Amino acid sequence: MEHNNNALGGGAAQSRTAAPGSTASNGEFYIPDRTCPRRPLKTNGTPGKSFEYAQIEGVPCRVVSGDEASVNLHSFISDTNTVFQVSREEFLEQFVQAEVVDGFIRAPKYPGGLLHVSEFEKREEASELIHKAAKIIGDESLEKKLKQLLQTQGSTHAATVSDYFDFKSGAKVLKTTENLGDSIFNRSKRWCPPVDIDHETFKQTKGFPAPIGIRPKDFCMPSELAQAVTALLVQMAQFENSPPAFVAFVSTIPGAVISQEVHLCKWCGTLVDARKCTAKYKSETNYIEICHRDPNKGFSIENMYWGHGDCNRRQGGYTELDRIDDVVSLIKMNPEYLEILRRKLGL
Ligand SMILES: [Zn+2]
Repeated sequence: MEHNNNALGGGAAQSRTAAPGSTASNGEFYIPDRTCPRRPLKTNGTPGKSFEYAQIEGVPCRVVSGDEASVNLHSFISDTNTVFQVSREEFLEQFVQAEVVDGFIRAPKYPGGLLHVSEFEKREEASELIHKAAKIIGDESLEKKLKQLLQTQGSTHAATVSDYFDFKSGAKVLKTTENLGDSIFNRSKRWCPPVDIDHETFKQTKGFPAPIGIRPKDFCMPSELAQAVTALLVQMAQFENSPPAFVAFVSTIPGAVISQEVHLCKWCGTLVDARKCTAKYKSETNYIEICHRDPNKGFSIENMYWGHGDCNRRQGGYTELDRIDDVVSLIKMNPEYLEILRRKLGL
């Protein structure tokens, strides 16, 4: 690949006049200013047939190789071996080199504005754990619940790649009252940048109508996901009637400590029974859900737990503290409740 490295410089004469970024070298990181559908390269290095949103606004990409005409990039958001190609012209127009300080890539779209380079190597950890656990758990419904840990809550309004091309080519023209697309992807990884903007702001993004991120509550870095998944597997192993083979598997995960206590739903304080979320139990498909103590915060073990689906619906997308505020205002308006509350709390 050495020849690519040299070619990337574009020659001395060119590099003097070229815009910053033209001297991209293998291993360097660049950040695109817009989401754009790209065709991942096949193993022979030629572009594959179908387009996907491999280039995402604000998501760092590592330079893999390139020549005078094009640059090959691997995005943090892609599967490990996926590489896409952009012409040098597009590269100069759409990508800016990311500063790397002490192993951290400066990536303003990410919480804290930083992303450690080692996160690239940790992207498979959580999914490997989940797939092993899913094989062992021996029940279709429980398996489905496990796999949900890897998925973000998508937006069905997100513009597909063909919507994107129709809009950009002018084949699709929007009426004044018509909206197209959503800033949230329909499917993405948890380390896609979190986004919370209105449609007007979204319309100003350079890649519009292509999506740009995921809901903040779904966000975490690969290393955090592996930790959160481990903790949630431990909770599942502590469900009443958790399958013994599954419990044995979880106990082998480094860092996993299974106590004898049964896992309780943090909303209602009652236990969670693994049998009630098995395929055999039928009607109870949403008996358990991943609950967020604060739905606006990310996917972290401090913020998440396995709880009852009914309890999650009672919380209804509000934070726990919002619900406490509801109680406080109810009591202020109806002081007769205060005595009832005191009694219930044993105060
Ligand atoms: Zn509950």
